[in-house]
Amino acid sequence: MIRRIVLASNNKGKLAELQAMLAPLGIELVCQADLGISEAEEPHRTFVENAIAKARHAARASGLPALADDAGLCVDAFGGLPGVDTAFYATQFGYPKGDDHNVTALLHNMRDVTNRRAALVSTIVAMRTPDDPEPLIATGRAEGEIARERRGTHGFGFDPVMYIPAFGMTFAELPPEVKNANSHRGKAAQQVAQLIRERWL
Ligand code: IMP
Repeated sequence: MIRRIVLASNNKGKLAELQAMLAPLGIELVCQADLGISEAEEPHRTFVENAIAKARHAARASGLPALADDAGLCVDAFGGLPGVDTAFYATQFGYPKGDDHNVTALLHNMRDVTNRRAALVSTIVAMRTPDDPEPLIATGRAEGEIARERRGTHGFGFDPVMYIPAFGMTFAELPPEVKNANSHRGKAAQQVAQLIRERWL
């Protein structure tokens, strides 16, 4: 019976969100840092490969089942990039690393682009062991359009330019609870909890 899972991330926001989903299943989620486990390399070009690499590393180091996520922004007009490079996007264009620089670089690079479609994507992987041949894979997407300028003050990252047509607002204009219920991360977290319930319990 699975009672404890290690999370291959030290992000407290992610831990809280996933803990809330798994607690009703009687599963405790622990951060890898609290077990003295270092962060894994993320050398791959797809979210799913990086999430598997992180989950495998945490499962091997802990002897517990492991969960890992990888996320980013996928812009249609750029063939899905920046993807796994999202956090470092601005640095490719000579800006320092940071959320606000990322938005500045994106708006500049899209100044002549009419196809504004983009998705925030979160892939979450769960593995029973480092050798698990059947990882659980959940993908959540929040689809929208990159706005021409920033709007709203909530959230982080690309939220001020992530315009969601269904709401007629950017993620940064939406109340946080509405964004979280409709975010890529929230959708992936719900899916992985459902998969764990169906396949592991
Ligand atoms: P992380 O791996 O989830 O921390 O995010 C990877 C990159 O995607 C970072 O540059 C984040 O700013 C961006 N990102 C992730 N989630 C969101 C979100 O909900 N809104 C806006 N940007 C996000």
